[in-house]
Amino acid sequence: MPVYASVIIDIALEKLDRPFTYIIPEGMYAEEGMEVSIPFGKGNTVRKGFIIGISDKADLPDEKLKSIISVSERTVNIEGRTLALAAWMKKNYGGTLITAMKTVLPVKKKTKELNYKTVHRLAASERIKSEAASLNPLRYAARIRLYNALLSADALPEEMIKDKLNVSASVLKTAVKDGIIEIRSQRRFRMPLPAENRYGNRSELNEEQQAIVDAICKSRSEGDLRPALLHGVTGSGKTEVYLELIERIVSEGRQAIVLIPEISLTFQTLMRFYARFGERVSVMHSRLSDGERYDQYERAKNGELDIIIGPRSALFTPFEHLGIIVIDEEHEGSYKSEKMPKYHAREVAEYLAARDDALLVLGSATPSLESYHRTQTDEYRLFSLKSRYGAAVLPRVHIADMRKELKNGNKGFLSGKLMSLLTERMLKGEQSMLFINRRGVAGFISCRSCGYVVNCPHCSVSMTEHKDGFLHCHYCGEKMSKPRLCPKCGSKYIAGFRAGTEKMEEELKKLYPSARILRMDADTTKNKDDYEKILSSFADGEADILLGTQMIVKGHDFPNVTLVGALAADMSLNLSDYHSAERTFQLLCQAAGRAGRADKKGEVVIQTYQPEHFAIRLASEHDYEAFYEQEMGYRELADFPPVCHLMTLQFYSSDPDAAFKRAGKIAEVIRAMKGEVPEVIGPAEALVGRIRDVSRVGLYVRHKDLKVLHRVKDEAEEAEKKLAMERGAADVMLQFDLDPVNIF
Ligand code: ADP
Ligand code: ZN
Ligand code: ZN
Repeated sequence: MPVYASVIIDIALEKLDRPFTYIIPEGMYAEEGMEVSIPFGKGNTVRKGFIIGISDKADLPDEKLKSIISVSERTVNIEGRTLALAAWMKKNYGGTLITAMKTVLPVKKKTKELNYKTVHRLAASERIKSEAASLNPLRYAARIRLYNALLSADALPEEMIKDKLNVSASVLKTAVKDGIIEIRSQRRFRMPLPAENRYGNRSELNEEQQAIVDAICKSRSEGDLRPALLHGVTGSGKTEVYLELIERIVSEGRQAIVLIPEISLTFQTLMRFYARFGERVSVMHSRLSDGERYDQYERAKNGELDIIIGPRSALFTPFEHLGIIVIDEEHEGSYKSEKMPKYHAREVAEYLAARDDALLVLGSATPSLESYHRTQTDEYRLFSLKSRYGAAVLPRVHIADMRKELKNGNKGFLSGKLMSLLTERMLKGEQSMLFINRRGVAGFISCRSCGYVVNCPHCSVSMTEHKDGFLHCHYCGEKMSKPRLCPKCGSKYIAGFRAGTEKMEEELKKLYPSARILRMDADTTKNKDDYEKILSSFADGEADILLGTQMIVKGHDFPNVTLVGALAADMSLNLSDYHSAERTFQLLCQAAGRAGRADKKGEVVIQTYQPEHFAIRLASEHDYEAFYEQEMGYRELADFPPVCHLMTLQFYSSDPDAAFKRAGKIAEVIRAMKGEVPEVIGPAEALVGRIRDVSRVGLYVRHKDLKVLHRVKDEAEEAEKKLAMERGAADVMLQFDLDPVNIF
């Protein structure tokens, strides 16, 4: 019985061909990713190609197929492996092979010669030190930042200084004029060079850290390559553990991929890697041009790099001997792609690690339920760092019950507790961060007297207010009118919660006329540098209070911040999404992680209308395990991931009826599938039913066995192709989202 290979001929990066099917002759060994010679076209010219898939079925009868001539001497090479990866992505997440390939391969464009600018230190460090000390920190904050950076590195990419340190071109110009630095331009990208004395800079691990590194290395040497989940509270030293593991594996001649959410790619984090590994590190970020990205890809392929740091797309770096993948803050939503193929970095990393016998290390203070669940089923190994490094301790957390505040006549945004702690900070000259959790602010209805939230009678999720003035359940379609009075306590303070950061700022200014307040939200971060500007100005001590949306709590380290206030912490509990308790818990723990990072002790105030909610209570106690137990209980009851798998089929069309109709037809196809059939929910209008005049309709399927969902995807794609070909068929686009991070 013949076996077939799909072969891609010539990967010209601009134009990707479709695969062709060939017979693998008996006795020939072939696997995905191998380079093969095949006869092609009418004249059967011999061409090179890559196997991207193997199957025992073919789309054409045998007599119409040709056979592979030979397998290349070289075993699987980088291009071949990349193609096999694309094929795997297509199989898992749907869409076309071409889209998958464009995801994993950089675009090769004819770009003009690239020029990289590097800032080199000219002056001696003594001079820089004394000048930094003599500058007025309020007037010359940016220059001081530059000088401090030059003390830890002899050379830095100009872009990093501008982007991450927020040092302007004019400050650089002055420094050039003063003979402090020199800016050189090169064709090749050069990494920053750590100052001589910092090279190979490493910290002595403490006992807990060392034990983890040893345990991971030991099981690795015994052939246990299960992924490791590193659960460590914020500031416990997870990064030190990554650095040590990476150094060991790199010293064996293998390479490392480190994924970090873009938002926490700070100067400090980067410098820790540079100081240790120097120019063998490269950083990938969303602002690289296509040319720079391609350049980086080539350097990795040519063995000029050992370590790449970046967001999820850094996974596609073509290393010859990948040895370790680290995913820091593994619970972050940004690891899931929102574009087809909608892959999750963790799953792709698992695939790569298994393929290359590499180690996969996931780290978080608040692991995703998915990952922690896998430690309970022994698919992952669990390692914990229980306390903060050194003398730092976790902050004390207060819960402020906003229902009581209202009862006591406080109609403002701030609880009595938060006000008194804020005042204290102002007197002591310490900094505070206040954030409004705006996630889920879109439309849920709650009572400010008793905390009651209008829920769907059938679905245990909150109802959302739509433009038609009615409340809708987005899971089952239930529709009801908005109550005038609270059904529970009769209060008239029942409404959609709309608290804006701008309004908060006004209020704060009234309460603290002398306070210097910085605001960070979508309105104040319209330009690409605004974000870094606000953060560095806060870090330089130019404000007492940083006020913003939840974007301010992620990954930043401000040693002088000793108070964090979470306003309306429960807002995200009311999302019509089964992740809402988990998201809230994570956010509050991360926020708490911002307070008291250095030697000063921190405090946190969580303001809420639902103080008894377990996600809030357990976040205030820093108790992840208890949270996991309780939340898993709910997921089991309601049959949500990680207990089962969920897939959304997303239908987009400019004609809402067409999207509904198509979804209905596909639903029939799925229900009529042979063998195991998943539960099918919908079609239903998506949470956001229309974006830019495109209607969105969702079909939700779930089943314990991932293979069943893969089959659903295949059959749906097949059926969709046929439906789209029908005469007069409307234009409908179908996308798949497996185990969605955001509810469609
Ligand atoms: P996490 O990644 O878990 O938030 P970090 O690795 O950033 O924690 O460590 C928190 C702080 O403690 C950092 O400032 C780091 O330099 C310091 N630290 C952690 N481990 C060590 C160590 N073994 N020696 C010296 N400093 C350490
Ligand atoms: Zn009420
Ligand atoms: Zn419902």
